[in-house]
Amino acid sequence: MAERPKAGPCSRLIVTRTGALTPEKARERKLPVMLMQGGIHAGEIDGKDAGFLALREVLNNEAAAGALKSFVLVFVPVFNVDGHERFGHWNRPNQVGPQEMGWRATARNFNLNRDYTKADTPEMQAMLRLLNAWDPVLYVDLHVTDGAEFQHDVSNTLEPVYAGDSQLHPAGRALVKELNAKIAAQGSIAVGFLPQFCSGRRSGLGIRCGGRRCRVSRRATGICTTVFALLVETHSWKDYATRVRVTHNVIVALTEMMAAEGAQWRTAQHEADVRATQLGGQDVRWTTRMVRMSGPLTSRVMPTRASCRPFRATWSLATTTSNRRCGTCRSRMWLFRRPRLQPPPAAISFRPRKRRGWLKS
Ligand SMILES: [Zn+2]
Repeated sequence: MAERPKAGPCSRLIVTRTGALTPEKARERKLPVMLMQGGIHAGEIDGKDAGFLALREVLNNEAAAGALKSFVLVFVPVFNVDGHERFGHWNRPNQVGPQEMGWRATARNFNLNRDYTKADTPEMQAMLRLLNAWDPVLYVDLHVTDGAEFQHDVSNTLEPVYAGDSQLHPAGRALVKELNAKIAAQGSIAVGFLPQFCSGRRSGLGIRCGGRRCRVSRRATGICTTVFALLVETHSWKDYATRVRVTHNVIVALTEMMAAEGAQWRTAQHEADVRATQLGGQDVRWTTRMVRMSGPLTSRVMPTRASCRPFRATWSLATTTSNRRCGTCRSRMWLFRRPRLQPPPAAISFRPRKRRGWLKS
């Protein structure tokens, strides 16, 4: 799909039992497509190994038997080929294995997962062409998290769920719920949000379920288009074998779900595409912002070893600590509240606050 001068080609593999090995044939036969990529951050390479492992099993009918008869799977095992070839022991020192791994950025130091909107790199231009050609129902981006130690194995976050076409939100939420239930049934802790501290490394301020701007895969495709875009983040403190097994389980579960529900997702997204063409001339909600949590706590409980410090409120707070303590490290448990999103005020100021004085003078 793209040629890098130093590292060689960036390749994609088309996997299906439908015989539709081109985008034209898939479109002609109205087949849903799932596009899955590993190694956009090449040090987080679980997706490449797990992808090949899962596809071998699916093709041998050892997992998700018969699923490939009803949809087309496009797999890009390594998106950041340059980074993948820059191999070393300490490229991700806070990640438990593999012993050596690739590098986050490309040879020209571009982070591909910040390039979806500006498309500076030949890799991203090729990926956008691939996305346009295949028009997938589900776009899966396989990563490993950084940061503090939590107990979950994997976080699966999807758009459109918080933003984008609101009529797609129920189906998006149901997708994540079903996926996480399937992963939990195999002994993993799977969460439907990406836990990050409100303030850098200061765990005492709580954890937010934040949105990211449209430069990253999930939001660029899930909000700016009607594709279901899933960010899969295994947890860097789990060992490599565990992470690859969990990523494999996610891929097999998604393969089963694509076979069962891909066609109806495709129909719903095409209806959303029609709605999008009718937006011209209307006032539309431009963005959303996080608001402080209210209402009763949900049942989500997540222990972390990061902090026993007391809870302090922040405006984007998504969590609080409880008196329950983790059985192994005795740190407090985090209790999560569901994030609630509110439309922005009618007038949006684009002026950065610290520059307002300049405009006055
Ligand atoms: Zn990543």
